Amino acid sequence: MNVPRKEVPVPHFYPRFYNTMSRRLEPLEPREAGKVGFYSCGPTVYGHAHIGNLRTFVFEDLLRRALRRLGYQVTQVMNLTDVEDKTIRAAVEGGISLDEYTAPFIESFFRDLDRLHVERAEHYPRATRHIEEMIELVRRIEASGAAYSADGSVYFRIAADGDYGRLSGFDLDQMRRGERVASDDYDKEDLRDFVLWKGAKPGEPSWDSPWGAGRPGWHLECSAMSMRYLGESFDIHSGGVDNIFPHHENEIAQSETATGKPFARLWLHSEHLIVDGEKMSKSLGNFYTLDDLLERGADLRAVRYLFLAVHYRKKLNFTFDSLADAGAALKRLDEMRFRLENSGETGEAPEEGGEGESPIPAAIDRLEADFSAALADDLNASGALAALFVFVKQVNVAIEQGSLASGDKARVVAALADVDRVLGVLDPAAWVEGGAAPAAEDAEIDGLVAQRQAARERRDFAEADRLRDELTARGIAVEDTPQGPRWKRTAH
Ligand code: AMP
Ligand code: ZN
Repeated sequence: MNVPRKEVPVPHFYPRFYNTMSRRLEPLEPREAGKVGFYSCGPTVYGHAHIGNLRTFVFEDLLRRALRRLGYQVTQVMNLTDVEDKTIRAAVEGGISLDEYTAPFIESFFRDLDRLHVERAEHYPRATRHIEEMIELVRRIEASGAAYSADGSVYFRIAADGDYGRLSGFDLDQMRRGERVASDDYDKEDLRDFVLWKGAKPGEPSWDSPWGAGRPGWHLECSAMSMRYLGESFDIHSGGVDNIFPHHENEIAQSETATGKPFARLWLHSEHLIVDGEKMSKSLGNFYTLDDLLERGADLRAVRYLFLAVHYRKKLNFTFDSLADAGAALKRLDEMRFRLENSGETGEAPEEGGEGESPIPAAIDRLEADFSAALADDLNASGALAALFVFVKQVNVAIEQGSLASGDKARVVAALADVDRVLGVLDPAAWVEGGAAPAAEDAEIDGLVAQRQAARERRDFAEADRLRDELTARGIAVEDTPQGPRWKRTAH
């Protein structure tokens, strides 16, 4: 099987992405060569994620996998918003703690990620576990003179930020001063100001702070958690388009005011998922969670394929017909794999100069180059899939013509596996009932757990502790049992 292949130089692709901030394509140019730090706004764990949220999470998964394929080491952080107005209200109404209220939604969020084979980010910080960092950030903003407190709450003074509105193109002067605002906002100097720290009402979950008991504002949470894990300046910040204003605009204002440094460099936003051409809403009866799709017999693998196939800056119109089309595309891929398994390798391998019957080595080179080039071009998923289908066609022709040479079958399988490290949909065996977590990630964690166990056995406790810390930072809890160590994923 191991026929030597002509060495071809591996082309290097310099990715460029559409930056919402500049409204044009820009090269990635990470702060540290070869490394990308990237923050994605995560779920508000007030309810189960809907398929719109999941579209955005799959886009971010494609981004991290594509960056890795293009040679970057990725550190992705996705927060869990477990304290904001809605979770507080629901917990108070239910007479339970915030943690009790959000626990089932955190669990279902991770289950949904697994079911769609979304790779785990390096960190899933929870807002409620980072209150100290948030208080510290408010102090820094206060020290810069851009914050003021009123009646137990602290506000950001938008007038102090001459740059406000750069991301969304928002014109401050056009924002009507008489806009209706929540009644507890009447303490603001200017209705356009936003809350950094919100004073608690009696009976609400709260934390002590220099301004009295209260809780962080939503925008502040993301500023504090992104800087905690990625530093004061980092490479990419992503979310859905609804995050652009005011959420990301306010994150920039707070962070840059506090640090005096540029916050994120590239801002990537995915367009919304709509259903049957309309905004998803419970009243229209077109609001779906992943469980709702499963109840209607959807194939999760087709859901992932559909989400990948539509470019992230285009609206994704979800229909059951489009889901069926995605399933049909996967069937074509599966059929090729089946035919490949059952075909012979009787053709003649190409010589050094390219003479010979088998088109496979050249087809693989083409696939590898075109696939990477498409991803590097602002995650052009349809271009990447087109390269795959050109390849599939070439393989089908080679099978029909009996021109596969010795070793070609293994080469095709390896090329598909390589492409699938980005797509995560090509291997039907990986999509058994229930959907397993991505195998590569699990294997890596198994490796770290085994290394820690080995360090313990040779009584190198410093190394064992270091490995446990590394696992903890990745959201992995290890339990030592008489049968050996077991691990599970947690948020932190
Ligand atoms: P949320 O749980 O509302 O905080 O949203 C989590 C993520 O889903 C954010 O990045 C949102 O921008 C994104 N999002 C919300 N609604 C949609 C939608 N209909 N389509 C795509 N992404 C969405
Ligand atoms: Zn956010």
